[in-house]
Amino acid sequence: MGKARTIRTDKVIQGAGFAHRIKEKSGEDVFRCYQCLKCSTGCPMAEAMDILPSQVIRMAQLGRGEELLRSETIWVCVSCYTCSIRCPNDIHIAHVMDTLRELALKQGIPPKRGRVILFHQLFLASIREYGRVYEAKLLAKYEAKSGELMKNARLGLAMFRKGKIALLPHKVADIKGVRETFARLKEGDEG
Ligand code: SF4
Ligand code: SF4
Repeated sequence: MGKARTIRTDKVIQGAGFAHRIKEKSGEDVFRCYQCLKCSTGCPMAEAMDILPSQVIRMAQLGRGEELLRSETIWVCVSCYTCSIRCPNDIHIAHVMDTLRELALKQGIPPKRGRVILFHQLFLASIREYGRVYEAKLLAKYEAKSGELMKNARLGLAMFRKGKIALLPHKVADIKGVRETFARLKEGDEG
């Protein structure tokens, strides 16, 4: 049997300081939530989640950070912003989810969905290179690196035929600005 992985946890992800940490990193004040459930009822990914968006916010209020960082939900959320638009208190739950993913990685808590990190890395590499997602390259790299070559080939072909996937990349005009943003974020992470 493999050696159990040691997970570092600290007081910033558990207890009273957790909501403050979320606000510091995402700008979102979870204490504005009064549990109307509009976020959960509108979330297109709710069925695949183990903790609903409204429950994520409640657990953040209660300082149950470790459970949140270990949840599937934070990796299932696709940052579609439906919840943010529906929230009567202007809480951007997608920003909270981003922060939870970041904290999970910093704490060394791996995502339960195996290849999600690979996809995130390739996604960010594509943004850094082109300023937007170049789907054809991202999918080809993902399938090659994940060992799932050809698994989604039929879907990719159908998307290409419908013009959903461009053959050639299109860089944004201000690619220098995009790269500077990445450099600043890296400095912030190291600081
Ligand atoms: S941003 Fe995430 S939590 Fe919010 S509705 Fe979309 S998938 Fe659900
Ligand atoms: S929609 Fe906003 S106020 Fe309502 S439960 Fe979700 S986060 Fe809380």
